[in-house]
Amino acid sequence: MRVPMGISNAGFIIFVASLKTGTYTMPVLHNRVNNEELKQRMLAETEPRTTVSFYQYFRIDDPVKFRNELYITFERLKVFGRIYIANEGINGQVSVPASNYDAFRDALYAADPALNGIRMNIAVDDDGKSFWVLRMKVRPKIVADGIDDPTFSMERKGQYLKAKEYNELAEKPDTIIVDMRNHYEYEVGHFENAIEVPSDTFREQLPMAVDMLKGNEDKNIIMYCTGGIRCEKASAYMLHNGFKNVFHVEGGIIEYARKAKEEGIPVKFKGKNFVFDERLGERITEDVLAQCHVCGKPCDTHTNCKNDGCHLLFIQCSECAEKLDGCCSATCQDEMHLSPEEQRERRAGRENGMKIFNKSKDHPLRKHRDEWKAEREEG
Ligand SMILES: [Zn+2]
Ligand SMILES: [Zn+2]
Repeated sequence: MRVPMGISNAGFIIFVASLKTGTYTMPVLHNRVNNEELKQRMLAETEPRTTVSFYQYFRIDDPVKFRNELYITFERLKVFGRIYIANEGINGQVSVPASNYDAFRDALYAADPALNGIRMNIAVDDDGKSFWVLRMKVRPKIVADGIDDPTFSMERKGQYLKAKEYNELAEKPDTIIVDMRNHYEYEVGHFENAIEVPSDTFREQLPMAVDMLKGNEDKNIIMYCTGGIRCEKASAYMLHNGFKNVFHVEGGIIEYARKAKEEGIPVKFKGKNFVFDERLGERITEDVLAQCHVCGKPCDTHTNCKNDGCHLLFIQCSECAEKLDGCCSATCQDEMHLSPEEQRERRAGRENGMKIFNKSKDHPLRKHRDEWKAEREEG
């Protein structure tokens, strides 16, 4: 069978196959060069890249068509990264050659009136080397929420709060502040007086937040998360469930901290904002809210267990790190110093045992970390 093919400037092959999906034919646009080669090409680039994240909830009637049109433009502009598109909107984290950034932003703004002027969060301290391929995926949702109520929609959302507005509303006695992130994020930093919704998944957090706040339908509910995308959905869900005064922090903690410092107003977020980069968190204030998971003394430094058979993400002080060679436990420390063969043997024999006696394997952090790693490896 012959398929029409074209080779673009960047060397990617744009290929249009006749995939029969129901009654219509859909073009498939994706790159066909192997991952390692793409990575090498990216590393050989001399032009700096700008890393930026963005999202917008808005109605997209035909996500596949929308995706394919944008793909052609972005591929031409040498955009790398991942972009999710769903009926409910778009969510992306990408890197763009610095000289193409304006063209990229303009193309995104022009793709739909709802995208015109959306906030672009440019990452500071980023070398732009995290991505080497463009992946644009059509998904059922841009943020998986587990909501199967067909009457729920993102059209009615909570009101945005800018940093100054947040500070004012947070002061009021009839205001409840809700952290919509995971426990390990809350643990090292959160807004003053914020309550935690104790679940490991966002899907569970939504109904749990509704249950926890029952009886407070007339109070001011402020929701927040790291970059705003989760709490924006949560705000819509609260409104859907009868809460009347729902707010969310515009741009999340990242934007709040930036604006509060810029405007010289009190910073009500204390401690560290956890982010998945090399630093595993950005310090917002000097407050240390967490404790070392080994010895219990005040500490908010996340680290990964140095034992390749573990890699648990946990909090460890510098003394414990020294004593345990950066491992989470003496067991991991011993294992790390075995010969590679012995390590392999131990790991092979442990798969069953660990599920029974070692909680770390079932630890929520471990799961999150694995998912995150898998996504990064995909590009
Ligand atoms: Zn310690
Ligand atoms: Zn370990």
